[in-house]
Amino acid sequence: MAETKTGIQNVVIVGSGPAGWTAAIYCARANLNPLVVEGAVTEENRMKGTLPLGQLNLTTEVENFPGFPSGHLRDYLSTSLPEERQPYWILDKGKQPAHGITGPELMELMRQQAVNFGARIITDDVTHVHLTKRPFQLETIENGSFEAHAVIIATGARANWLGLPSEERFKNNGVSACAVCDGALPRFRNKELVVVGGGDSAVEEASYLTKFASKVYLVHRRDKLRASKIMEKRALENPKIEMCWNSGVEEVLGNDAEGVTGVRLASTTGGPSREIKVTGMFLGIGHTPNTDFLKGSVELDEKGYIVWKKMMRTNTSIDGVFAAGDVADNNYRQAVTAAGSGCQAALDAERWLAAEGIH
Ligand code: NAP
Repeated sequence: MAETKTGIQNVVIVGSGPAGWTAAIYCARANLNPLVVEGAVTEENRMKGTLPLGQLNLTTEVENFPGFPSGHLRDYLSTSLPEERQPYWILDKGKQPAHGITGPELMELMRQQAVNFGARIITDDVTHVHLTKRPFQLETIENGSFEAHAVIIATGARANWLGLPSEERFKNNGVSACAVCDGALPRFRNKELVVVGGGDSAVEEASYLTKFASKVYLVHRRDKLRASKIMEKRALENPKIEMCWNSGVEEVLGNDAEGVTGVRLASTTGGPSREIKVTGMFLGIGHTPNTDFLKGSVELDEKGYIVWKKMMRTNTSIDGVFAAGDVADNNYRQAVTAAGSGCQAALDAERWLAAEGIH
C-alpha cells in the first residue's frame, strides 16, 4: 500500500476531513503520490469523536457546502462510490431523504475523488512524529513507521461535550455542537432551543439560531459572559434570547420517538433545579484540536492549535510540515474553509518540495 521507489514518501497527509482529502486530491494531481493516514477505527476514537472522515461524518445534512443544492443525489452517489461505501439508503432502495447532501456522503465523495486520482490510504492513527531531522518519521499503531519528505497535518478538532449520558443518547436527535450545520433543520424551526456556553461560539450560535427558533435560552455557568463585548451586546439585546445565568444542564430530557423534549437545569449557586421545554440543545463550550500526538514537535498555541507561521500560508514551525483545516483554525471551522486550506497546504508542500529539489 505505502511503497515508494526510495521508501521515503513525498508527502504524508495525516487526517481525513475536508482539509485532508482536498490536500490529497491536489497532491495526487501534482504527481506527488500522497499517502493519507486517515485515522484508526477504534472504540477510543469513536468515543472521542475522532474516527476517519472527521466531524462531518458525525453530522446530518450539510446545506452550506457549495455545489450541493437539494436534489436527487441517488444516481450520482450510486455511480460515484463503490458499492461497499455507498450510503445504506441507496443499497436498500429506500426513500431518498429530502436533502442536498449529508456530511458522511460528502466525505465519502471527497475520499473517492482522492482515490480516483491515486491517493493511497491507510486506516490507522499516527501516534508519534519525529520532526527534528529529515526525512521526517511518523509512527502508526498497526502499520509501522513511515519516512516522509513533507507532512500535511489535517487532523481537525473535536467539539467539547458536557459528557452526560443523556446528551450522548440524543446526539443527532436534538443535540448538536454545530448550529451552522444543523440549525435550519425542521425539528428546530419555530421551536424553543437551548445553547450552552458563554464564549463567542455560544453567543454566535444563539444569535444564529434565533433566525429559526422561536426562542433561545443561553445557559451559562457564571453570571458574566466570556464573549467579546460586541457579541455580548448583540445577545443581550436580542429579544429572542433569554439568559439563564449561573446554570448548567444536568440532564437532557426526551424519548426515542421525539428526541429532545427539554433539559433540566441545575443552579451553580445552590438554587433549585428547573426544567424547560425545548426541542434542541446546542453546545458552544469550545473545541479541542487533535494535536496530542504533536506536543513538543510543532509549535502549538495555548489551546493546542497548530500555529501557522507565515501570513496566508500553511507553514508550521517546522520547515516541510504544513497544517490545514480546523487543527490550525480556531476561527472559521467550516467544511469549505477547511477544504480551502487543504488546497493551500498541498500547493505549499508541492512548491516546498520543488524548491528543495525533491520533486
Ligand atoms: P471559549 O472562548 O473557550 O468559551 C467556552 C465557553 O464555554 C466559556 O464561556 C466556558 O465557560 C464554557 N464552558 C467550557 N466548558 C464548559 C462546561 N463543561 N460546561 C459549561 N460551560 C463550559 O470557546 P469559544 O466560544 O469556542 O471561542 C473560541 C475562540 O474562537 C475564542 O477566541 C473566540 O473569541 C473565537 N471565536 C470568535 C468568533 C467571532 O469572533 N465571531 C466566533 C466564535 C469563536 P467559562 O466562561 O465559565 O469558562
